[in-house]
Amino acid sequence: MASISDFTIIGSGINGLLTARQLVNTGATVTIYEKNQLGQESSWAGGGILLPLYPWRQDHAITELVTHSIKLYPTLNEELLRQTGIDPEWIASGLLITRNPDIQQANAWCQNNDIPYYPGTIEQLAPFHTEPLDPIWLPSVAQARNPRLLKALIYDLKSKNVVFKESNALQEIQISNNRIHSITTSVEKTPVNHLILTTGAWTGDLWEVLFGAINTTSPEIFPVKGQMLLFDAKPDTLTHMILDDDRYLIPRRDGKILAGSTVEKQGFNKKITADAKQQLSSFAINLFPALADFPIINHWAGIRPGTQHGIPYIDKHPEIENLSINAGHFRNGLVMAPASAQLLTDLILGQPTTIDPAPYRL
Ligand SMILES: Cc1cc2nc3c(=O)[nH]c(=O)nc-3n(C[C@H](O)[C@H](O)[C@H](O)COP(=O)(O)OP(=O)(O)OC[C@H]3O[C@@H](n4cnc5c(N)ncnc54)[C@H](O)[C@@H]3O)c2cc1C
Repeated sequence: MASISDFTIIGSGINGLLTARQLVNTGATVTIYEKNQLGQESSWAGGGILLPLYPWRQDHAITELVTHSIKLYPTLNEELLRQTGIDPEWIASGLLITRNPDIQQANAWCQNNDIPYYPGTIEQLAPFHTEPLDPIWLPSVAQARNPRLLKALIYDLKSKNVVFKESNALQEIQISNNRIHSITTSVEKTPVNHLILTTGAWTGDLWEVLFGAINTTSPEIFPVKGQMLLFDAKPDTLTHMILDDDRYLIPRRDGKILAGSTVEKQGFNKKITADAKQQLSSFAINLFPALADFPIINHWAGIRPGTQHGIPYIDKHPEIENLSINAGHFRNGLVMAPASAQLLTDLILGQPTTIDPAPYRL
């Protein structure tokens, strides 16, 4: 009979995969269940900017995870490239933010968090059609290419004997005396040692299904759709990321340029719309007229795991002894993921944490 993994993780987005990697690196065994295909939801759909939009307007709890994670990314990228041959394309391409009515807070945040910052120059702004207001240039801000990062992580975890169970949705738990004994999925019933939910936007609804009948502390996580476009631009058409009000362009290494994104509260409906395509393409071409020469070759949507203040839940459940959660990263899941995985692993293993865990408690 197959032995039971030390950890059973539900969900194979960036948070499930990095939590698994952190645990496996301590010598633990891990099984990951995924209801669809591996790594195809929000973590695949995102832009991969490794900084929140206007981080100085966000809660300190977000800054903590972000500043920690961005220090971990270069090594993660290097290890994955070396161990898998797949390049997650971590690139410090820099970010130009055109309009900053709160420039003093922006400068102070950068200074306090060791992020180099400079006023955006006339030359830098020349290719763009915008009305700049105290533009700021952040040359060290990096990006990762989401699908490649996920592919590299999956490859790496398979080589470390993590068991993946695809098209296999968690549906029920069997619990007594505040301990989960087994889970029932769409495919099987299996015992568990420690269950970790990294189920992104689905966590709130899933929690209701799993724990609705028992009165227990629960997270509030809701779906927020985001649509993106991809322009088939040539290499070096744009060499850095640009944020103009709430929308952005991200150039990939091969020249392709992402334009994002919408923020829509529409449940789990992932349909792309002509209206969003029109809004995003006119934003992109108006801001950067050079884009008019290139066709749009892709348009997609993802479902972000929304929380009230964008602060994720990273915690061991206070009542159920073998249940943990790492979910609810809203618009900043990629950039917060390495530190989130490290924090949860430290909590589970009873190790001192580098970040104060209090703001992320259930
Ligand atoms: C358009 C868009 C742009 C974004 N841009 C950025 C950005 O530039 N930078 C940034 O940091 N963040 C960005 N984000 C946010 C980021 O993508 C998310 O916060 C992050 O991907 C969440 O990761 P996750 O692993 O928690 O969730 P997901 O990637 O959604 O993974 C959760 C997984 O759990 C699975 N699952 C759910 N329920 C079950 C079940 N019952 N059984 C089995 N499996 C289950 C799902 O199928 C899914 O694969 C963006 C998001 C979108 C949509």
